[in-house]
Amino acid sequence: MESYDVVVIGSGIGGLVAAGLLARYGRRVLVCESHTLPGGAAHAFKRQGFTFDSGPSFYCGLADPTSCNPLREVLNALGESITAVAYDPLGHYHFPDRTLAIYGNAEQYQASLAQISPQAAQELKTLTKKMLAIYRPLGAIPTLALRADGWLLPLLIQRFPKAMAQLLPQLRGLGRSMGDFVDETVQDPWLRRLIDLECFLLSGMKAHQTVAPEMAFMFGERAESVIDYPIGGSGAIIDALVRGLKRWGGQLRLGAHVDKVWVEQTQAQGVVLKTGERIRAGQVISNATLWDTCNHLLAAADLPPQYRQTSLATAAVDSFMHLHLGIRAQGLEELTIHHVVVHDTEQDITTPGNTCMISIPSVLDPSLAPDGHHVVHAYTLEPYAGWQRDENYGAKKEAKVEPLIRALQKVVPDICDRITLKLIGTPLTHQRFLRRHQGTYGPAISAGQGLFPGCKTPIKGLYRVGDSTLPGIGVPAVAASGILCANSLVSPREAAALLDLQAP
Ligand SMILES: Cc1cc2nc3c(=O)[nH]c(=O)nc-3n(C[C@H](O)[C@H](O)[C@H](O)COP(=O)(O)OP(=O)(O)OC[C@H]3O[C@@H](n4cnc5c(N)ncnc54)[C@H](O)[C@@H]3O)c2cc1C
Repeated sequence: MESYDVVVIGSGIGGLVAAGLLARYGRRVLVCESHTLPGGAAHAFKRQGFTFDSGPSFYCGLADPTSCNPLREVLNALGESITAVAYDPLGHYHFPDRTLAIYGNAEQYQASLAQISPQAAQELKTLTKKMLAIYRPLGAIPTLALRADGWLLPLLIQRFPKAMAQLLPQLRGLGRSMGDFVDETVQDPWLRRLIDLECFLLSGMKAHQTVAPEMAFMFGERAESVIDYPIGGSGAIIDALVRGLKRWGGQLRLGAHVDKVWVEQTQAQGVVLKTGERIRAGQVISNATLWDTCNHLLAAADLPPQYRQTSLATAAVDSFMHLHLGIRAQGLEELTIHHVVVHDTEQDITTPGNTCMISIPSVLDPSLAPDGHHVVHAYTLEPYAGWQRDENYGAKKEAKVEPLIRALQKVVPDICDRITLKLIGTPLTHQRFLRRHQGTYGPAISAGQGLFPGCKTPIKGLYRVGDSTLPGIGVPAVAASGILCANSLVSPREAAALLDLQAP
């Protein structure tokens, strides 16, 4: 029987970060990934010369040494880096009556908004100031310094006294929703809608449900770092994390579906693969969602009933319809990478099909598409319920993808005549290829209604990472979850030594 210090179930960014860091700390680490490609929601796949991002494509500070992006901190610690191309405007938001260019640069963003409403621009300036007051002291503490145990507070006070002192007046703000800040700062109805949209793009929920620090990081990173896209696509991030893992002696097994966490007397002993193979490990980390971990990886008897019930009762954000296209690019020289289309402002932005996200990364990295072509990813929320692979599946796919086609026509009016490759993904596709419960984007835990759970579980030696743990959904957040978990499994002295090595 093979034996490791740590087995990580899943190679999403949360899992790879935890695994890479633990390997860096000298632990013998194995990552078991069910899929034949690593990366989970962030994996890349190739078809007919096109390289598609399956999920994320919006990043900040990947290659900026001043950025607070936890992913960059981890890559530094692993001795890896990413080549990225910076760009601004970061995107265009298309409403039925107007299109607004969104800039990372705070002054340019305010100027763009002033063309619609001077009041909105002024209020955005005040809101930005409040967000930066939270971001700056938080950003002065490297995520690599964090851990999820009692050592955290003394460590922070000792090593970052200035940032901690600056954080004190912000403590109330850390627990508030973005909606609270909007209520006290923003009267302009247009700006209120815009902030709701930005929150939705980040957390899958509107301002009153989204926690303020999450938005503070978005405001801060946009304003004080750069928005950049990795050359090679999102897959380049995964490749760098896998290289980093292997560089420090860690291993990755693809096509290795974990059937169960092997638990004896409330202590994790390792994992059992679908093939029946047992792998022993002192510690097991699950990067599967909380629902998949509780429902599939553990037997009901393994968990205290209350913990299991609460976990399984957690609300989930919907899944997605995906449209991946290869298109002819002639005449599209002015095209930009990111677009968000809201079809109907009378309808809620969270209504499936109403808000459509579009990414065309080959405008920044032409290597992602064959010569003279672009690669396109458009997606919108779609509930899982009601989807089944029956005789109507094909027709339903085509019907449900129609809002995405209409959204793309706002950006490229003759898109239908340009398509050379078309792939449609449904919630069933999302569930299947990402191994995620009902293909969900992640937990819908509203601000004020509790925090995302931490990395510890009631089972000794079993931990969790990823977007159903603290701090939540999104690439920087899941990278932070991987750091929190890895640091909690090593001594404060080991963590401090690694942190010292990273100090400028
Ligand atoms: C369409 C879309 C667009 C997004 N856009 C952005 C964006 O622009 N910017 C941003 O920051 N974030 C974005 N996100 C969010 C971000 O991509 C995710 O929050 C993040 O990648 C999730 O990472 P994770 O570590 O939680 O795990 P996941 O990515 O869910 O990975 C978990 C891994 O575990 C594996 N696994 C599960 N069960 C088992 C098992 N039993 N055995 C073995 N392996 C198993 C899965 O196969 C998977 O590889 C987007 C997400 C989606 C879906």
